[in-house]
Amino acid sequence: MEYCADNEIPVLPRGGGTSLAGQTVNEAVVLDFKKEMNDVVGIDPDAETVTAEPGITLAHLNNALEPHGLKYAPDPAWGDKSVLGGCIGNNSTGAHSLKYEKADGYLEACEVVLADGTVTTFDWLAVEEIHERAAAAATTTRASRRRSTPSSATSFGITARKSRRATPT
Ligand SMILES: Cc1cc2nc3c(=O)[nH]c(=O)nc-3n(C[C@H](O)[C@H](O)[C@H](O)COP(=O)(O)OP(=O)(O)OC[C@H]3O[C@@H](n4cnc5c(N)ncnc54)[C@H](O)[C@@H]3O)c2cc1C
Repeated sequence: MEYCADNEIPVLPRGGGTSLAGQTVNEAVVLDFKKEMNDVVGIDPDAETVTAEPGITLAHLNNALEPHGLKYAPDPAWGDKSVLGGCIGNNSTGAHSLKYEKADGYLEACEVVLADGTVTTFDWLAVEEIHERAAAAATTTRASRRRSTPSSATSFGITARKSRRATPT
């Protein structure tokens, strides 16, 4: 990611590639998460959470959850081919959307690689803390504008590992 950022090379993460609007098609370095990062990292039945790599298919994820009486609820039609990272990237849902809603309702935390190569974790924040951070960021932006320094922006993240809330079957 750092190399691509430094050399202005586009990067395109890809899961199952089942998106309907060409999301995983471009001239870019394509990161195929389905090939190497496709496993369950851990299941916590008491907390009803699972930590998994982004290239795991929803079918494989649900096979691992089933013995614990849990399932990952969003069910896009191609669940045997589409993967967790792609499901989060599209905020997917499926035939049971009225009952289970979309992927964002099941996301506890994401360990991500930002466009500049920084690794960080996106997690839950209290609303008050969001307001505080936004105010601090606005102050910093105003200060850097006054110094005429271009701000460094990280526009999107690549998911390296995700923690998911599972649902009782
Ligand atoms: C017949 C058919 C039926 C479908 N039914 C539904 C439906 O009912 N509901 C629905 O919501 N969708 C549906 N879809 C669309 C699609 O299958 C789903 O949205 C699916 O969850 C996408 O998963 P994927 O792994 O194929 O993602 P991909 O197509 O591979 O990627 C989706 C997006 O996520 C990004 N991405 C992938 N992996 C990562 C990662 N690790 N980090 C960051 N970004 C990443 C990609 O760049 C892309 O923008 C359907 C598609 C087909 C062909």
